[in-house]
This record gives sequence, C-alpha cells and structure tokens, in this order.
Amino acid sequence: MWRYDDSRAALRDVLRLSRAMTFKSAVAGLPLGGGKGVIMLPLGAPTPRARARGNVLRDFGDTVDVLAGHYVTAEDVGTSSKDMGVIAQRTPHVTGLSRRRGGSGDPSPYTALGVQAAIAASCERAFGSPTLRGRTICVSGLGHVGMRLAKGLLRAGATVLATDIDPAKREPLKTAGGRWISTARALSQAADVFAPCAMGGVLTHETIAELQAPVVAGAANNQLADDAVGELLARRGVLWAPDFVANAGGIINIAVELDGDGYDPARARERVHGIADTLRRIYDDAERTGATPLAAAMELARLRLREAA
Ligand code: NAD
Repeated sequence: MWRYDDSRAALRDVLRLSRAMTFKSAVAGLPLGGGKGVIMLPLGAPTPRARARGNVLRDFGDTVDVLAGHYVTAEDVGTSSKDMGVIAQRTPHVTGLSRRRGGSGDPSPYTALGVQAAIAASCERAFGSPTLRGRTICVSGLGHVGMRLAKGLLRAGATVLATDIDPAKREPLKTAGGRWISTARALSQAADVFAPCAMGGVLTHETIAELQAPVVAGAANNQLADDAVGELLARRGVLWAPDFVANAGGIINIAVELDGDGYDPARARERVHGIADTLRRIYDDAERTGATPLAAAMELARLRLREAA
C-alpha cells in the first residue's frame, strides 16, 4: 500500500515488482512464480484509518479471490499481518497471517535475517572476511526490515549509521546503539556497506556518482533505476548484491508456510541463511564469466525457470 503520482506510476511499479518476484522465487529455488499486488493511495490523501482501511483491504481481497489461487498475496510496504487477517475475510489465498492464526506471521524479520546474511557474504567477497564486527554499515530506511536489520548488525558488532524520512525512527535507533545521519547523506556516507531498505529506484545513473561504499546490499526492491546501472556499479568497482537475491528471506519464510508440513520457524531460518550460499554462487558465476552480479543472478533465475518448465 503506497502513494503514487498516478495510476500509470502504480502500474509501472507493480509490473517491475512482479518481475522481481519471479526472479526472486526462481533464484531462491522456490516452487512459486512471480506476482505482486499494489494498493494505490492517492497522493496527498490521508492514510485510510480503521473502517476505510478495512474496506480497501476487503476490496483487494475480492480481487485476489477472483484469481482463484493463481496469485497468493502477503505483506509488504505499508501493510501488516493484521491487514492480511482482514484480506482473509474475503479470500483464502493469503499468507503471512499471524502465528496465532496458524500463519508464518510478519515476513520482515526473515527478510532482515536474509539481508544480513547477504551483507556478510558480500563482505567476504569484497574484503576477504564475512565478519561484520568492526564494519561500518549505512542503513537507509528504518521500517519493518531496516530497523530489524540495524539491530541485527549492531548485535553482530558493526557500527550502524542510519536514516529515515520519518524522524520518529531516530530515538529507537539511538536506543539500540545506532548513529542517526541525515537522509541526504545516506549515499555519500563513508561506509563499508550501503544497505538501501526504503523504496526502489535509489541507484540511478546520477546518484551512484555520490556512492562511497564499495558494497551495496539491502532489502529494497528494484534498487536499480534500470538494469544498465548494474553495469555502471561494476565498472566503478562497487559490489552490488542483486536485491531479489538479498531480500528473498520473506518469501522463503512464506514458502515454508505453503510447504504442506506445517510452518516451522527453525526450518525457515535455516533456509533463509542459504541466501549467503546462493549469493556466493552468483558472485563466482559473475567472476568466471565476466558478467555483473545482476546478469549472473538473472541467468541463474532463467536456468531455474527453464528447469521448472
Ligand atoms: P516499511 O514501509 O515498513 O519501511 C520503509 C521505511 O522507509 C519507512 O520507515 C519509510 O519512512 C522509509 N523511507 C521511505 N522513503 C525513504 C527515503 N527516501 N529515505 C529514507 N527512508 C525512507 O517497508 P519494509 O517492509 O521495511 O520494506 C522496505 C523495503 O524492502 C521495500 O522496498 C520493500 O519492498 C522491500 N522488501 C520488504 C520485504 C518485507 O518482508 N517486508 C521483503 C522483500 C523486500
């Protein structure tokens, strides 16, 4: 659920997001295709509260239900597992319901866990060691995923510099031991790793000129304004962990819910840690073939899709 300038912008976003979901599930080896739903809030309108929000979510549930299970929805930006409970009033094709209702709950902790594994694997490639102790990591966006990631990185001994457009995130970050920076300085901050955890399109032909960190690995979907930015990053010597690989923890957790053996958080955590191995393989493939990590990850996705077909 997000604000867009107009319905064309929302449509463009949902098509890019669904493409990324296809690559994400394929690279993670999940028996799922790709799909995404967007609920567009008009720019400038207040966030719908209680009754209006319920109506919007039930309308969305009706739309999902028409697809008769070809599309299964879950939480993402702007929605919660409570919202999934409202959607479930209209369709059974919804995951990420609360643990109390037998679901896998909020996927964000698993996304954060996977991003942390991706950061460690990227540090190993760039600096020769996966350890996060002593690394400086800049997290941009302290929402469901970013705040958890920041806390996980702090627990692992990293120095965390972080920011959000919402100033209410400042105190919880400082309480956890992180250092607040201005949003404008996130890209140009001297750091070992930049972790984009807000909205997509943060890495453009223009913005990457500001980038100081030699490694980029974060949760945000569609970080690159277009695929050519992947080439530019590689030419500048920046190691970029393809977003649809690094942020697959949430969908891996949801796939465990759909397994048939019942949801098991320990099994979900173990599978999410596998993101590090997937990324190592992608970096190896990229080095061997002279491709960018993006091209190598897309090649792996295509291989898996061909195998599935
Ligand atoms: P969220 O809505 O909980 O948090 C996003 C945060 O980013 C908010 O705190 C918002 O204020 C902040 N923000 C927005 N624009 C910003 C900017 N320009 N600079 C700094 N902060 C900004 O969303 P989330 O669930 O934490 O997801 C974050 C990103 O990760 C999204 O791109 C999402 O699509 C992606 N993602 C999330 C999951 C998941 O499990 N939640 C899974 C895969 C990918």
